[in-house]
Parts: sequence; C-alpha cells; structure tokens
Amino acid sequence: MKKIGILGSTGSIGTQTLEVIRTQKDIEVVSLTAGSNIDFLEQQIREFCPRIAAVASEEKARALSLRVSDTSTKIVSGMEGLIEAATEPSAEIIVTAIVGMIGIRPTIAAMEAKKDIALANKETLVTAGHIIMPLARKMGVSILPVDSEHSAIFQSLNGENRERIHKIILTASGGPFRGKTREQMKQIRVEDALKHPNWTMGQKITIDSSTMVNKGLEVMEAKWLFGVSLDQIEVVIQPQSVIHSMVEYEDGAVIAQLGTPDMKLPIQYALYYPDRRYLPGARLDFAALRQITFEAPDLENFKGLALAYEVGRKGGNAPTVFNAANEKAVELFLKRQIGYLDITDLIEECVARIPWRSNPSVEGILDTERETHEYIQAMRLPKGRN
Ligand code: NDP
Ligand code: MG
Repeated sequence: MKKIGILGSTGSIGTQTLEVIRTQKDIEVVSLTAGSNIDFLEQQIREFCPRIAAVASEEKARALSLRVSDTSTKIVSGMEGLIEAATEPSAEIIVTAIVGMIGIRPTIAAMEAKKDIALANKETLVTAGHIIMPLARKMGVSILPVDSEHSAIFQSLNGENRERIHKIILTASGGPFRGKTREQMKQIRVEDALKHPNWTMGQKITIDSSTMVNKGLEVMEAKWLFGVSLDQIEVVIQPQSVIHSMVEYEDGAVIAQLGTPDMKLPIQYALYYPDRRYLPGARLDFAALRQITFEAPDLENFKGLALAYEVGRKGGNAPTVFNAANEKAVELFLKRQIGYLDITDLIEECVARIPWRSNPSVEGILDTERETHEYIQAMRLPKGRN
C-alpha cells in the first residue's frame, strides 16, 4: 500500500484526493492537515485513521484532540505541526493541497525528508521555484503536477525528448468575465466572481481564475516544472475546458490531453504515475460537444496575465511580490474591503514599488511577502464597491 499525506485535506483538492483514495482502496492515508475546519477534519480522521493530523491554531488543535481522544491519531498545530505532518516518516508522497505561500516550508521539509510531491499548491512553485526544483534534483524526489494544465503537459511529454519542446500552449477557460472590458467589470461583486463556468474550486483560486491571475501563476508554474523559458509558453483561451493544455514540438507536431473538466483525473494520475487506473465519471462525447473554440487572451482588460509575464521575466523576488499582493488583495476583496478591479491594480502597484532582489532565500521570500502585505496595509485603500 502506498502511504500518503495530504496538506489541506478539507479543501477542494484535498477532498477530491480522498475521493480517489476511497475508490481505489490501495492507498493508506498517514497524515492530514486543515486550517480551521475541525468538524470536517474529525470526520476524515475517523474514516482514514491517519497517524497524525495538523490544524493551524493551537486552540482548535486542543478541541480536536479531545474529540478524537478515542482514536490513535496524534493532533499537532501551527507551522511546526504542519511540517511534522508533511514529514511523517511513513509517508512516501505528500499532496500539497494547501492554499497560498504557507505551503513553502512544509513542501521543502517534505522534500528534504525524501517524499515525492503531488503539487497542487502552485503559489509555492511560483515564489520558490528556484529553490524547489534544484532541491528535487538533489534529493532525488519527483514533483508530480496536480494542476490540470500541468498534468496535461506532463501527459503530453510522455516518451518524448524534452529538449525538442518548441512551446507549451497553456489553455484557459477565460473565466466568467471573458469578453468584458474593465469598465464593464467595475461593479463585479464577490458572488459574481465566485461563479466559475466550468470548475468548482476553493474561493481563492476561483477569484484568481476570474481575473486571469491564476493563468499568470500557471505560466510561472509551467516554467519551473518543465524547464522552459517564458517566451516558450503561450496562453490560449479555450472556453469549453476540454483541451487541458498542449505541447508543440520542434517538428510542428502538437500533442494535447483532452477530457471532461474533472480534477480527479490529474490527482489520480499524479498518485499512480506512470500507471492509469479506471476513473468513474463523465466521458467526452465529441458528437454532442460539436466544437472546441479558441481565442487569444485579452491582456489589456485582464492585466494580471500581462503582469505575470513581466514578473516571471524579472525573476528574483518579483513573482513573490505578485503572488503576495494577489493573496492579500483577494482576501480583501472577499471581505468586501476593496473592489474587483482593485485586485489587479494593487498587484500592479506593488510590483512597481516593492524593491527587487535577486535569488531570494526562503527567508528572503517570506520577508518580501511581509513587506508586500505591509505595503498594502499602509495604503489608503479605495472603498470597496461591492
Ligand atoms: P481550498 O480553499 O478549497 O482548500 C484549502 C485547504 O488549505 C483547506 O484544507 C484549508 O483548511 C487549508 N488551509 C487554508 N489556510 C490554511 C492555513 N493558514 N494553514 C493551514 N491550512 C490552511 O483550496 P483548493 O483546494 O481550491 O486549492 C488548494 C491549492 O490547489 C491552491 O494552491 C490552488 O491554487 C491549487 N489548485 C486548485 C485547484 C482546484 O480545482 N481547486 C486546481 C488546481 C490547483 P480549512 O478547510 O480548514 O480552511
Ligand atoms: Mg489550473
């Protein structure tokens, strides 16, 4: 039985990972973690009997500890607890399904403990890719993509020579506001932005998808995962979310992976790579689908994507500024403290103002995150229009 740990088991990717495990029946869950949802985590502990489970706050950990005192699961808390769960000795693979840069330390700790990583937590690779990728080589561990586009690219690379990649074509649905101008997006409310046309995901990534910041993060994620330059990554809008991404080779051949929009496929592929297992669920029906359409992305009205290319080219701590500004801005938007367009305006301002530094260490990355959050805190923020 393969043994796995899941960071962020109560979220969208975490619960779908457990769904795959429940169906396949040959994976043992040895560690689970959540932020604050101890009701759900308790249910998961009772069903999967992990050796260890972590929650963010000490107080919630104490409450959970009492509730599950009849089980043998050890309950831990804080960053220390998260790292303990990520490095549980018996775990062979860690699914990083936690949201945000908080994933950096536990991911690095898991790799140092020689665990393979099934990576959903893209913020970690965007901000610390220059640390993560060399560390993976040094420790001899695999980074298996869970993000659907990156899984599609990974699948399209099977058996090919990576040196022969001409470009990577990342597909994007365009989100709920595709075709709108900034003027038309001024009044967008939290409720509108939380409705994604094709995918059901956690709140932060749903907002990121609507602003196209998610695609920007994915461009940087692809650069690190597949060792290509940003000039070799092209984004194309494919509104039906059927083609999950493509690779064009030097001879002009384009290889793609297609499927219905279901995250369980990339999750399962990462867990069993290079094997494929039966996955119940809807299949593509090309006759019913009739057409797959394409458009160029609108970089003017969705400036988050253009900014991502800019910070990706700058490198150093610039992707961290971009990501940290976005994390804070999305949090403020969800609390209705800023308007929708303020999200990308804030990112743009932080990218222009926060000093650039080359090759930051983990400490340097976390310092830049703090600096960016403090910068936003000190701004006289425009009143939300929601
Ligand atoms: P969710 O918001 O649904 O879940 C996030 C998980 O992280 C929850 O288990 C949450 O716990 C936990 N968490 C949140 N904050 C903290 C914290 N401060 N300390 C410890 N744990 C915390 O997110 P998603 O599942 O949608 O996304 C997870 C990651 O996967 C993101 O990086 C996202 O970009 C990426 N991803 C997601 C996709 C999707 O389809 N959802 C697709 C591709 C990538 P709690 O429930 O207690 O709050
Ligand atoms: Mg994706």
